[in-house]
Amino acid sequence: MVISGLSKSIQIAGGGVAGLTAAIQLKKAGFNPIIFEKEQKVGAGRHGDYEGLDNWIFSRNVPAFFKESGFHFSNITSYPIYRFNVHTQLDKPIIVQNNQPFFYMVKRGSGPNDLDYQLYRQCIEVGVRFEFGKKAPETCQIIATGTRKAAAFIRGINFKTNLKNQVHLLLGSQFAPKGYAYLIIIDGQGTLATAFKNPKNLESNPLQNCLEYFSEIGIKIRHGIWFGSRGSFSLPFGSIRSPYQIGEAGGFQDYLFGFGIRMSMMSGRAAALSILGNKKESEMILKELNRKRRLSFVNRIIYEQLSDKRMAGLAKKLSEKSNPLSILADAYTWNFKNILRWINMRYRYEVRPT
Ligand SMILES: Cc1cc2nc3c(=O)[nH]c(=O)nc-3n(C[C@H](O)[C@H](O)[C@H](O)COP(=O)(O)OP(=O)(O)OC[C@H]3O[C@@H](n4cnc5c(N)ncnc54)[C@H](O)[C@@H]3O)c2cc1C
Repeated sequence: MVISGLSKSIQIAGGGVAGLTAAIQLKKAGFNPIIFEKEQKVGAGRHGDYEGLDNWIFSRNVPAFFKESGFHFSNITSYPIYRFNVHTQLDKPIIVQNNQPFFYMVKRGSGPNDLDYQLYRQCIEVGVRFEFGKKAPETCQIIATGTRKAAAFIRGINFKTNLKNQVHLLLGSQFAPKGYAYLIIIDGQGTLATAFKNPKNLESNPLQNCLEYFSEIGIKIRHGIWFGSRGSFSLPFGSIRSPYQIGEAGGFQDYLFGFGIRMSMMSGRAAALSILGNKKESEMILKELNRKRRLSFVNRIIYEQLSDKRMAGLAKKLSEKSNPLSILADAYTWNFKNILRWINMRYRYEVRPT
């Protein structure tokens, strides 16, 4: 939709993926968005580390999804992942593979090939304005300032390596209590990270345990840049209205594994469509997002109840399936079984719907 003759200014707080998506949609429809980013550049809070664009939560595939969000995916350097190794404390490593990619890996940050920088470039190309190094004014109609309440913690290391491309997932309390750890090596660059809950109750250092485990199986990680971050599990299910809270600021995230990029972008699109007067489509996106969030909530509750032994068993089962991606997709499908689960479990989480 293009609104002619309008030079309407929209102020957006935060230049993450959510704010950038809202901005490009608004600009392409004739509005004049301006993004206030407190850092000196887009992607400054990231470290060039790899993150995965999940390919099972939503039915649209990743390139189509980016097009719908206003961006050219081909400009972003990405790596489809068809197989990965799963390690548990109780069994030998197994391989999970699929004929469709599980993820598209992208780098986060301000480097020329990074997701954040590429989305920023595409915003600049269509004329989105940016104010860097400034906290956003109170008057912003769109709030896209990222995580509010820390509930999940991430510790990691980025490093250079000669090892070949590979992806590993580590499960179990030693590597990541109530979470997961991963090692991604692509084109000589690696990210090892562990995402876990309740750092106060840790009996040992999960990142150190991961490093020692990999060292034992011959994957030595010597020098690198350490990083730490956090994620939220807030669950506001309000409607999309001004001031719009999008991305992680609005709780748009997968609560199982913390996938937030696509949900953040979709919430940015929903806010833009609402401002553009396309309330129906905006509400439809919100409905889809809220269903996925509810099911990710259910999946997290189930996941947190798994013992290390049961988790190892499930990973083994997944590796024996011909299409494990479809099993992951089933866990995010709004069907009778999953709706019942949601009804039974919705009050059992520490952060309740508001
Ligand atoms: C280590 C880590 C690994 C992750 N891995 C994955 C993954 O593999 N796959 C996945 O899908 N998701 C992953 N996520 C989650 C995903 O990165 C986030 O959900 C997503 O980036 C959220 O986007 P956002 O735009 O809401 O917020 P952000 O990307 O956090 O952007 C918010 C922006 O707002 C700016 N800002 C904050 N306050 C102000 C203010 N007052 N004024 C102006 N600017 C402000 C910040 O500087 C920042 O640039 C991961 C997150 C972390 C931390």
